[in-house]
Order: sequence, then C-alpha cells, then structure tokens
Amino acid sequence: MTDYSSISAFRPAWLGDGRKKLLINGEAVDALSGETFNSISASTGELVAQLALAGGDDVDRAVKAARAAFEGPWSRFKPAERQTVILKLAELVDAECDDLAMLDTLEMGRPITASRGLRGMLKRSLHHFAGAATAIYGQTMGNSFPVDLLSYTLREPIGVVGAIIPWNGPLFSAAWKIGPVLATGCTIVLKPAEDAGLSALRFAELCHEAGVPPGVVNVVTGAGATGAALSAHPDVDKVAFTGSGPTGARIVEASARTFKKVTMELGGKSPNIIFADANLDAAIPASAMGVFNNSGQVCAAGTRIYVERPVYEEFVGRFAAFADGLKVGLSLDPATQIGPIVSGKQFDRVSDYLALGAQQGARLITGGGRVTAGGLDKGYWVAPTVFADVRDDMRIACEEIFGPVASIMPFDTFDEVIARANATRFGLAGGVWTKDIDKAMSAVKRIRAGSVWVNHYFAMDPAVPFGGYKMSGFGREGGHEHIDAYLQTKGVWIKTN
Ligand code: NAD
Repeated sequence: MTDYSSISAFRPAWLGDGRKKLLINGEAVDALSGETFNSISASTGELVAQLALAGGDDVDRAVKAARAAFEGPWSRFKPAERQTVILKLAELVDAECDDLAMLDTLEMGRPITASRGLRGMLKRSLHHFAGAATAIYGQTMGNSFPVDLLSYTLREPIGVVGAIIPWNGPLFSAAWKIGPVLATGCTIVLKPAEDAGLSALRFAELCHEAGVPPGVVNVVTGAGATGAALSAHPDVDKVAFTGSGPTGARIVEASARTFKKVTMELGGKSPNIIFADANLDAAIPASAMGVFNNSGQVCAAGTRIYVERPVYEEFVGRFAAFADGLKVGLSLDPATQIGPIVSGKQFDRVSDYLALGAQQGARLITGGGRVTAGGLDKGYWVAPTVFADVRDDMRIACEEIFGPVASIMPFDTFDEVIARANATRFGLAGGVWTKDIDKAMSAVKRIRAGSVWVNHYFAMDPAVPFGGYKMSGFGREGGHEHIDAYLQTKGVWIKTN
C-alpha cells in the first residue's frame, strides 16, 4: 500500500537536493546575502526545499535584468514570435504538469487530485495568452485639428512588471501573471509567496526552455520584505498583486511614490443566495464546494450562504451531510478532497474564527475544530464546518476566514437578501440559485461584485474577466482587460500634406 504520510517518494526529480536559487537574467543565483529560508510541507511537516531569500539588492538586480531585456532582445520579438514561444511554453507546461502540480501539493497541501485538475485550465490559459499576442490593436480616429494630421493609437507594453502572488493557487497565479507579460512584450520580476514558491520557479525555467530570452522572466523568492522592495523599486512600471487587502494597501502606497500602474486582486466574503425554487440537488454540492474547495483558501469562496426560509432547514441539514461526507485526508492521497490549512499561522487564524462563531451564538451544525488525517497527529486539518443561524453582524459573516467555514443564514424577501448580500466591504463574487430567470437577471444586476454565477458556483476562464468591486481590488484578470492592464496607449499624429 502506498504511504502518503511522507513526501519522500513523491518529490519530483527537479527538486534535486532541495536547494533552490533565485532566477535572475536566466541564471540560478544565490541571494547576495547568502540567506535562505525553508519551505515546509503543509501536509506532513517535512522540509520540501531550501530557497534563496532575496533582499532588496537581489530585487534590484532582477529589475535591472528585466529592464535590459525589455529594451534589448525581447523588444525585437514580433508578436507572432511571442505567440510561438507561449505555445511552446504551453506544450512544456502540459508535459510537466503532474510534477508542477506536485510541487504545489507538497508545499501548500492542496490535494493532489485537485492540483492536477488544473491542467486543462493552465493549457487553455496559455493558449489564450498566445492568441492575445497577435491580437493587440490600436485605433485610427478622425481629428478636427486645423491642419491635416492623421491620428492613431499605438498599444505598447507597459515595461517592467513587478508581480507579487499568494500561496493558495501558486502555479495558476504565476501563469496568470507571466502569461500576459509574454503576450504583450513586457518583462517581469515575480515574487511568489514564501509558503509556495517552487512551481513559479520551475514555470519560469520552462519559459526559458520555450525560447524566452534571459531577463524577461525573473523570480525572486522571499518574504514580505522582498515584495515590499519590489513594489517600491523606482524602475518597476507596474505592480500586479494578488493577495490580502492589508498587504495590497501597503503596495498601493509604495507604488504611489513613483506612480506605478497597479492592479489589485484581493480577498472577499462572497454571498451565495439560494431561493426556495432552486434545484437543491445541484445547489447543495456546488455551494458546499464553493466554500470547502482548497480548504476554503479561495478568494471567491461563497462563504455567506443566504437560504430562503421555506427551504432553510432542509438546506442546512443536507449541506451539513454533504460536508460530513467529504474525504479529509493526506494531500498526496488521490482520494483526498480536503487537505490541510497551509500553515500553523493560518490554522491558528481559522481556529480563532471557529471559537468566535460559537461565542457569538451561531449554531454549529458540523465540524468546528481540528481533525487528524491519515494517522498523522501533526498537520493542520480543519473539519469542513457549517454554522447556521449566523447573523450578518457576526465576525464570521463579515471577515474573510480563508478556511473551510460556511455561514448559513435565512432570508425572507428578494430586496432584503440583495441588501444583505451587498452589505459588505468586499465585492469579489456572488452566486444565485433559482429557476426564475427574471429573479436571476435582477439579482445579477443588483449584486455588487466582479463575478456572479447563476445556478453554479465558481467558474473561471482566461477569456472572462475576474476581479473585485469595492475592497476586493481593482483591475481584472481574464478577458481583454487582463491584457490591457499590461499595455499603455500612445497617441500618434502625422502631418499628411
Ligand atoms: P498576503 O497579502 O499575506 O501575501 C501575498 C503576497 O504578498 C506574498 O507573496 C507575500 O510575501 C507578499 N507580501 C507580504 N507583505 C508584503 C509587503 N509589505 N509588500 C509587498 N508584498 C508583500 O496574502 P496571502 O495570505 O498569501 O494570500 C491570501 C489572500 O490572498 C487572501 O486575502 C485571498 O483572498 C487573496 N487572494 C485573492 C485572489 C484574487 O484573485 N482576488 C486570489 C487568491 C488569493
């Protein structure tokens, strides 16, 4: 029988002796300080790798390499050549996807089947970015200037991008930052999260194997200070950030000093509304996975579930039964549906919210604490947890927990539930379940969030914009807006006689 309680048999060959360096100008280099930090498996507590800890001086040389590549060899790549490189990258990533997925699972503990399930999405995304490379258009416009002048716009790459990403979807986040960079002709210095930097490093190496010149894609592994140095660097033209609101605010402040363009993909506390006429057979499992997937460590998790009163008790009971049936287990076991929380720090945070829910009077239906998995007494598993009769003002209903915790609340009228759904400082996503098309369309219009799913919860595609209203951020990833965010527009005037 396979032993899933140790990572040793599952380490991809690429990990070698487990020591990983920064990737600057196409070369693996140590941090100038020589400092390193450890990446620990969320599932087993074992050491996965020792990574170089980039300081401000390393960020500076990465930015210099990115600038030189932007102005040098990369600027001579024609759109079709960039497209060819991205298509090659898609092939390489697809061929190595199992190992890339394994790196994420080893570090941040997402169940291996879920990590490998992202393969199709990654491939589609890279194909999408490849297509975008040859679909960047300016416009020609008339003008009323007194002499004859032709006026048109050029769409140009914004320059050096500093990208900072979280640990909850490391490979996917890296692909959605690097993809538009390659499509538009920008260059990038990417700072992965300290809990999960390996897949981004390997992805960047594959960019080079695909024909991307040195300096176009650089990776500086490190902690918050590394990200802070990147967002403050005067020669970075744009910062693309995915992460928490408080960190986002610091990055906006640092970026403002040199007026960098900024996009912010932040957190949420998304409402999911179940009307009494909904198909509960579909709504219950989808709504449950909308909270429990990735152990709730999903920015768009539908954690505030509003259920119309006539079906409230039935929904609560069946939802809890579904939660109880989920297989909580070791991340490496292909049968596992729910893996651990990423780290002790996050585990403590989630545990505090579990205690708060009970203290503030929510009705605990199932879960509510730590569980062990696969016979391991270490690791940070939290049972899928369902609180019912939650009030809108309880902290578990207002704050992003980033753990497998659902808050279920009854409602009586359409206007009431829309007002309650919108009474949040977040606005990342929302769900609506009903067979009544008028009700669905009206709810879609009135929910103030960047994505709304009807009779479904959580779908993403590279062609469809995703991003936040309100304190969930600004800018979009996916769709034309994603590519636009890496471009700037030049107005050109040419005298024609
Ligand atoms: P975080 O904000 O703690 O860290 C994100 C990244 O920022 C990490 O790489 C971290 O090292 C870096 N960082 C920390 N301090 C910094 C500073 N002062 N300057 C620059 N960089 C700094 O977030 P996290 O805990 O890694 O991720 C969870 C959060 O990310 C949640 O709030 C979640 O909702 C959000 N998220 C949003 C999306 C989205 O698309 N909207 C997607 C995934 C995650």
